[in-house]
Amino acid sequence: MIGRISTRRFLSITPRLLNQNKPLIKPKQSLIKKVVKYSLGTTILAAIGFTGFIGYKIYEESSPVQQQPQSPTFPNGQKRKTLVILGSGWGSIPLLKNLDTTLYNVVIVSPRNYFLFTPLLPSVPTGTVELRSIIEPVRSITRRCPGEVIYLEAEATEIDPKNNKLIIKQSTTVHSGHSGHDTTSSKSTVSEYTGVEEISTSLHYDYLVVGVGAQPSTFGIPGVAENSSFLKEVSDASAIRKRLMDVIEAANILPKDDPERKRLLHVVVCGGGPTGVEAAGEIQDYVDQDLRKWVPEVSGEIKVTLVEALPNVLNSFNQKLIDYTKEVFKDTNINLMTNTMIKKVNDKTLIASHKKPDGSSDTLEIPYGVLIWATGNAARSFTRDLISKIDEQKNARRGLLIDERLKVDGTDNIYALGDCTFTKYPPTAQVAFQEGQYLATLFEKLNQIDSIQYAIQNPSANQNIERLSKKLTRLQNDLPKFVYNYQGSLAYIGSEKAVADLVWGDWSNITSGGNFTFLFWRSAYIYMCLSIKNQVLVTLDWIKVALFGRDCSKE
Ligand code: FAD
Ligand code: NAD
Repeated sequence: MIGRISTRRFLSITPRLLNQNKPLIKPKQSLIKKVVKYSLGTTILAAIGFTGFIGYKIYEESSPVQQQPQSPTFPNGQKRKTLVILGSGWGSIPLLKNLDTTLYNVVIVSPRNYFLFTPLLPSVPTGTVELRSIIEPVRSITRRCPGEVIYLEAEATEIDPKNNKLIIKQSTTVHSGHSGHDTTSSKSTVSEYTGVEEISTSLHYDYLVVGVGAQPSTFGIPGVAENSSFLKEVSDASAIRKRLMDVIEAANILPKDDPERKRLLHVVVCGGGPTGVEAAGEIQDYVDQDLRKWVPEVSGEIKVTLVEALPNVLNSFNQKLIDYTKEVFKDTNINLMTNTMIKKVNDKTLIASHKKPDGSSDTLEIPYGVLIWATGNAARSFTRDLISKIDEQKNARRGLLIDERLKVDGTDNIYALGDCTFTKYPPTAQVAFQEGQYLATLFEKLNQIDSIQYAIQNPSANQNIERLSKKLTRLQNDLPKFVYNYQGSLAYIGSEKAVADLVWGDWSNITSGGNFTFLFWRSAYIYMCLSIKNQVLVTLDWIKVALFGRDCSKE
């Protein structure tokens, strides 16, 4: 019947029908409208939820908690042991974050009063990521632990493993030299030449965790320390930035055909491991995407060269990804010199030995303006000092030898993790992070053992000693061992491309490279940042660079 009602009549009766709250014709919503409405609602809800979650996390991270103060004993009279943790890096900080700090009197000693998110350090010299976005102050971590944690900004210089004693030293730069003084508890001296005030004192520990990392290796090659920048610390990233801008401005005042201009504009990265590859990729991006716009008079002449002693770069990655990296470098004009080992570094030139396909070698002299040295790790002097004091460590060359519970061979109460150890695992953040998490669990178990031992030695009336002894034996026998769970490797190779060697579960190994992998690389690194503040700041830095590009100031 409805087909015979005219539109006019239909419109006139509809309000009447609607007014009766009993519509004859139910207005039908199209499926598309429904989906749009539903998706919009869900998106708004998700956005509100997400903002609320981020807001709560930011509040939580920026608010210190009420902490249980340190004390020499537990309420039952049991001694509370002192756990000294050395370092504030990828091993020590996850240990601290996961540890129940009410169980020990925890002291953390590190000359660096912040955690550094090293995977994004190569992005800092070019300004893709700001320095402050990838650091997290140690105190904002210690102040959120359940039990009070004492932080001492100092460097461990010496150890007496037999007497559980550690010498720590703090160095402070002063404006003018003056004579030193002695106090009863500490020694303070000032070197007139360096203007550095040094204070040293000693610390006792019941347990010690060594997480001092490693220092950049130079293999004793002459001139490296004097003429190159490493890429290990925040100060290195700033030094590279300053040097890069200095050579650009210096080259700019020279005539086009001056060989000195060509030398200054030659950026050499030594070492084709992930650090060197990422550094070369970031600098070439900076030249192509930003300096070309702002410094067109010299940017076309800037040459980036990556020098690697072995036939390939990224040797720990799958061969397909190595070949892909080489292709990308070719496309982006990064000059790759493989089979070339740098033997000497002069102030303006590098002396290298190049191995030819027929097996013979020739010597090259390579002029350079900027040199970034990224040839891996060497043991720190503190690590070498500890090695030299323990007989069981006499075969240790590249780091401390540890057992499967991360206990330093030849000691009862010293544990070590991360780059200062030499194990079957690679010296990566991934390994150090998992070792830190593992040690947090282990120390909780060790505390349980101590508590039971105390209860056995100081029995109360209603305690079943036999049951306690059985529990003690079980705990001692079942102490967990460290098991490394390799999740894969990622590296940025420039021009918004990355390579990934991923392991998903036990069953699949995925290798991929390209722009999609670059997005994955970015998401993975955001996920890995240790604080929500860092996650937000890094994301904002990337958005900022996408909108405004990178600037060409010296700082
Ligand atoms: P570190 O993180 O180096 O920390 C050592 C700490 O000890 C520092 O706080 C230091 O100040 C302190 N310290 C030094 N000497 C003393 C002393 N005498 N007494 C007390 N404290 C001391 N790994 C990955 O898995 N993925 C990556 O993407 C990645 N990218 C990297 C990028 C760069 C540029 C670099 C340099 C490394 C990268 N790594 C990466 C490797 C990773 O950073 C290291 O394996 C990791 O930092 C090792 O952790 P660690 O705790 O042993 O040492
Ligand atoms: P590396 O040890 O991985 O690589 C150093 C490279 O320098 C080697 O390929 C070596 O052959 C080369 N080399 C050494 N001496 C040389 C010389 N005189 N001339 C030319 N080449 C020379 O060092 P790295 O890249 O600093 O990495 C250190 C550790 O940190 C590694 O375990 C690495 O996996 C990890 N890391 C990982 C990532 C990542 O996963 N994205 C990034 C950076 C570092």
